Amino acid sequence: MKYSPTQNYINGQFINASVSKTMEVISPLDGTLLSTVPMSSSKDLNDAVAAAKKAFPGWSKTPIKERVQVFFKYKTLLEKHLKELSELCSEENGKTYSESVAEIEKCIELTEFATSLPQLVTGEILEVSRGVECRTEHVPLGVVASIVPFNFPSMVPNWTIPNAIALGNCMIIKPSEKVPLSCGKLAELLKEAGLPDGVFNIVHGDVEIVNAICDHPDIEAVSFVGSTKVAKIVYQRATATYKRCLALGGAKNHLMVLPDAIPGMTAQNVAASMSGCAGQRCMAASAMIGVGNIDHIVDKICEEAKKVVPGQNLGAVINKESQERIEKYITEAEKDGAKILVDGRNTKVSGKEKGTYVGPTVIDYVKPGMSVATEEIFGPVISIMRTNTVDEALAIENANPYGNAASVFTQNGGMARYIIDRASAGMIGVNVGVPVPREPFSFGGWNESKFGVGDITGKSSIEFWTKLKKSTTKWNADAGVNWMS
Ligand code: NAD
Repeated sequence: MKYSPTQNYINGQFINASVSKTMEVISPLDGTLLSTVPMSSSKDLNDAVAAAKKAFPGWSKTPIKERVQVFFKYKTLLEKHLKELSELCSEENGKTYSESVAEIEKCIELTEFATSLPQLVTGEILEVSRGVECRTEHVPLGVVASIVPFNFPSMVPNWTIPNAIALGNCMIIKPSEKVPLSCGKLAELLKEAGLPDGVFNIVHGDVEIVNAICDHPDIEAVSFVGSTKVAKIVYQRATATYKRCLALGGAKNHLMVLPDAIPGMTAQNVAASMSGCAGQRCMAASAMIGVGNIDHIVDKICEEAKKVVPGQNLGAVINKESQERIEKYITEAEKDGAKILVDGRNTKVSGKEKGTYVGPTVIDYVKPGMSVATEEIFGPVISIMRTNTVDEALAIENANPYGNAASVFTQNGGMARYIIDRASAGMIGVNVGVPVPREPFSFGGWNESKFGVGDITGKSSIEFWTKLKKSTTKWNADAGVNWMS
């Protein structure tokens, strides 16, 4: 085993879980056994919540300008440890080293945003009538929880950690049991940056811990990122005990390609969007709708897809189960009459025979009802459908239950605006294959890609991680006896 067994992190200490049940952490790159992860019990969660609850009065009363000093230092430490964090991310998740570097750079950007929070939470004050003032303040919630998926072991945790904590909350994070290692390193860096013990805690585990988080009476808010199936369970369970909840789910992102799109640029973007991070991005292009004659662009997409080489510029998918599921989708599409133009099935990388790779796959002549057209595949696969008009393309996009992202490739600004106005997704790209908004703009989809109000990052996250206190004050005796006067 390459690393020592993963431990929980409670009250500033790495400690063993109260139960001995563990799962293996296997590198998708080559099958190396990296570590084990404990399947903690609700007792471990209770200990973490108690530590967070104890830390909350001191942390929440620390002025925000002091709190963000921790994140200035944390940002410097992320920069200092970029190589180590990137290697760890690549090993446990299977993405390429350069994709992992981009992930850590995004963590740095997210942290930069958190350091600007004092400028954004100044509140409001107004003399509402003679001698009477109303004032608002953003007040932290208390103990909050963050439940995260496997596909971004460092970035998704950093969607929530810097903002929630800089705003004065104390946090419990439940990493994905498939990629538990990066969060431990983040805990070390937060401690080195000066975060007081108990403010940030990690409890590893699976369903039992997620359920215990949703049910815990001392947790005020739950943020979740993962599949739609689990997002629905978590949203329902957390709100059943009257918690604030924001649950981000899966996706099926559509790219609409118009005949006037610039062929080379479009093909590069499509290939990069569908295969980046082995297609395991909630913002990955998964379905493409060609409007009119776009055969020349499809040819170029195939050329670009063939330049994506497993084990070189394409990482592995998370595990064997996922590899088999993706290959099954491709086989099913073929049986249903679609044409596999580039086939990523049965991919083996020499010297990494135990790695779980799927090559880039381009499927053409997909019909809107096929499973590759409607379901989240979460692999390096693009399903191409054809329509005669933009409205038909929009009807397909709109009919999908998800709504994370949609993109259009065209040189016609009026047409791009027409599609921005009508696509049913929270994040839209024009000539951009992965339309992730950068800070300070917030991240969040629509429809079955997100349950709850607001977005998870950027300015929108302030509303989620704080509650507003409104005070009305009168110091001037001349103001009269009526509060209105
Ligand atoms: P997942 O839903 O399987 O797991 C997410 C978390 O929930 C993990 O921590 C896991 O331990 C826990 N979990 C799993 N099954 C559970 C259950 N039955 N009850 C309670 N908890 C459970 O997701 P994943 O496979 O880790 O991640 C991939 C999914 O996440 C994809 O669907 C992807 O689109 C989505 N995702 C969405 C976004 C977004 O912003 N919308 C971002 C990243 C990933």
